[in-house]
Amino acid sequence: MMHFVADAHIIKDGKIFLIKHKKLGGWLAPGGHVDEGETPDATAIREAKEETGLDIMLLGEVDSAADEPTVKMLTTPTYLRLDTVDDDHYHINLIFVAVPVGGEVKLKMDEVGDGKWFSREDLDGPEVGENIRRLGKKSIDLAEKMCKV
Ligand SMILES: [Zn+2]
Repeated sequence: MMHFVADAHIIKDGKIFLIKHKKLGGWLAPGGHVDEGETPDATAIREAKEETGLDIMLLGEVDSAADEPTVKMLTTPTYLRLDTVDDDHYHINLIFVAVPVGGEVKLKMDEVGDGKWFSREDLDGPEVGENIRRLGKKSIDLAEKMCKV
């Protein structure tokens, strides 16, 4: 089976917020399955709130000028990734870069064992997987570029 999921790379002060998922293990970006009737951008925002307590704003491009009554442009994910969960379970992962705009860190304790901000240097630590290390650094760069005023 193949599911759509959406993750949020939440960036603040040159750091990315990662969670340690109890079931999946390892440090991951918050995210989860796209629910029936839900768009992926809404999934990323909902999952971030549920898992971390943070309200976020996605930084991906959205061409709202091209909206029409029956066509609404959605936020473009920054990365599109295929994750193998197990032999017969795959996730098409739409990954959004985001910044916190409210709320405070409050982990969903039944699912999330730990959660913290990782700097670029922290991402080099041995407990961080190669993919999230690389993408996390890219996301920090991207957020800093887009949020510079
Ligand atoms: Zn799944």
